[in-house]
Amino acid sequence: MSAVLGLSTNLRRLPGPRLGGDLERRALGAYLGLATGDALGATVELMTPREIRETYGEHRDIIGGGWLRLRPGQVTDDTQMSLALGRSILERGALQPRAVAEAFSDWMRQKPVDIGHTVRRAIVAFRETGSTERPPRDGDAGNGACMRCLPVALFTLGAPPAVVEAASCAQAHVTHHSPVADAGTLTVVRIVQSALLGGGRAELRVLTESLAARETRYRYDRRRTENPGAYLVETLGAVFQSLFATNTFEAALVDVVNRGGDADTTGAILGMIGGALYGADAIPERWLRRLEPAVARECIEQARGLVARSPLLGGSQGDHATSAQHAMDAAPGQGPRRSSHLAGGAGTGMGPPHPAWCGFTP
Ligand code: MN
Ligand code: MN
Repeated sequence: MSAVLGLSTNLRRLPGPRLGGDLERRALGAYLGLATGDALGATVELMTPREIRETYGEHRDIIGGGWLRLRPGQVTDDTQMSLALGRSILERGALQPRAVAEAFSDWMRQKPVDIGHTVRRAIVAFRETGSTERPPRDGDAGNGACMRCLPVALFTLGAPPAVVEAASCAQAHVTHHSPVADAGTLTVVRIVQSALLGGGRAELRVLTESLAARETRYRYDRRRTENPGAYLVETLGAVFQSLFATNTFEAALVDVVNRGGDADTTGAILGMIGGALYGADAIPERWLRRLEPAVARECIEQARGLVARSPLLGGSQGDHATSAQHAMDAAPGQGPRRSSHLAGGAGTGMGPPHPAWCGFTP
């Protein structure tokens, strides 16, 4: 961990409130895992497994390059959009769709190295109309909302299931609105939360199998997923296969990115899951060392800040204690969309009720 920032080995010197113990290892692991998976996978994004083998043998180091011509350790939209979402939540002390859309719009203004078509279209629409919830569209089942879901998993840790669902859908719908993708994204949020709380691979498998049972497109037990595209079903097929075929963070990440395709995003999603499961100390030092210090620093700061404000820890940051209590109190069926924890109070407009998939409970 010391190498991440070139700071003291003392965790107290890292930014953000300390969480302590196992939760700290896992929360930091999730955010740093996301960034390392993104940076590792980006080199081989859009390559086939065969092209990767011919070029790198096995791709296992953060070296930059790829179609985006990245610097070693540079991250892409997966990490950048997560940080924009997390920043918006921390600034407001709540998940507010309008603030999230503004954060994404600010990010797009900075001419990011990559941006998905669905995301770009949604941000343009937000600028033109102020809309913060996309209309439902099957074509939006891309992985662009799932890849940035980590701040929601951290901030709603310990919240009732209905609140977690509403939060997951609210952040997703700013740019993507598809029942199929909503189900997959919510499952990833739950997997990360289960791992943060100490769940092992058997517990995580219950969640993935429940998803596959409800939506058979998410079955991942048949042929090996290679060259996964941006369709979330394919992305998660590769992620789940690699997660359960390995038993270390490094082996899982190497396995998934060498499948090619949307490798920065499979890397990012498996990175957040694997980091929560195995802890920050399981992330290879040679990968952490490569991350850009400003990015690593913000990942650590957000991981700590978001969990500190979650219902699990009582949301004990000033006014936020009240918000977190609202989230805890929100009754399923009537409450979560009114929760100040999510919407920041009256008048922020969470839009019409979510489709049935958002109420889906494994
Ligand atoms: Mn990307
Ligand atoms: Mn990608």
